[in-house]
Amino acid sequence: MKNFVLFGPPGAGKGTQAQKLAVEYQIPHIATGDILRAAVNDETELGKEAKSYMDRGELVPDDLVIAMVVERLEQPDAGAGFLLDGFPRTIHQAESLDEKLRAAGKAITGVISLEVTDGELIKRLTGRRICRTCSTTFHDKFNPPASDGVCDKCGGELYQREDDSESVAHRRLEVYDKQTAPVLEFYGRKAILRPVDGEQDINKVAADLMDLLKV
Ligand code: ADP
Ligand code: ADP
Ligand code: ZN
Repeated sequence: MKNFVLFGPPGAGKGTQAQKLAVEYQIPHIATGDILRAAVNDETELGKEAKSYMDRGELVPDDLVIAMVVERLEQPDAGAGFLLDGFPRTIHQAESLDEKLRAAGKAITGVISLEVTDGELIKRLTGRRICRTCSTTFHDKFNPPASDGVCDKCGGELYQREDDSESVAHRRLEVYDKQTAPVLEFYGRKAILRPVDGEQDINKVAADLMDLLKV
């Protein structure tokens, strides 16, 4: 089973790597941040509740996010495997995920932890640019598109997330240290945690991931 979690602080490269791995393994890339941003855009009930937390760089309440992920994992395309990005972010989320999978006779098969230092994370977050159309991620210095402001893949317009401002980025790193980092111990105890040096260049990180996930 290819039931993977890509773990790491904001800006570690989870989305960038997941976009590559999802193609390689033909499994859905399930990014809770992407689902929440779509809900905010569409002004759904979930979006309306989540927005103020996201704007401040705080976590959206567990019950909302867990229900959203459970629903997503029940869709048929996740039956043969999935790549979770940005979830779980609290111990309670990790425990709920385990319970739900266990009830379905499944389990998480691997957790990749992307390790990147705080100074580098801030540079990555504040320079991040995202395609409005296909969500491909770029960086204005570290991974620039061929043509300024335009997506290489689909020609879509690139934008900067409001929560990638320097002040909210700092808050997100604090929230990560307090609420999310403890999840590492949870998976460490289960011996499914695989650390990767996320500070190498994008293709080297991808090569390391593929090696680790070869099953
Ligand atoms: P996350 O999903 O963990 O928040 P992203 O994949 O969106 O992180 O990456 C954050 C920013 O850093 C993006 O602008 C991305 O292009 C850039 N980035 C990702 N991986 C690397 C890397 N290995 N080296 C330099 N920049 C990177
Ligand atoms: P990052 O690039 O920091 O990894 P994401 O796109 O994953 O950011 O998340 C953006 C925001 O969406 C978070 O700051 C948080 O408000 C909310 N969010 C995403 N995933 C979760 C989650 N699993 N639990 C609670 N809030 C979440
Ligand atoms: Zn695009």
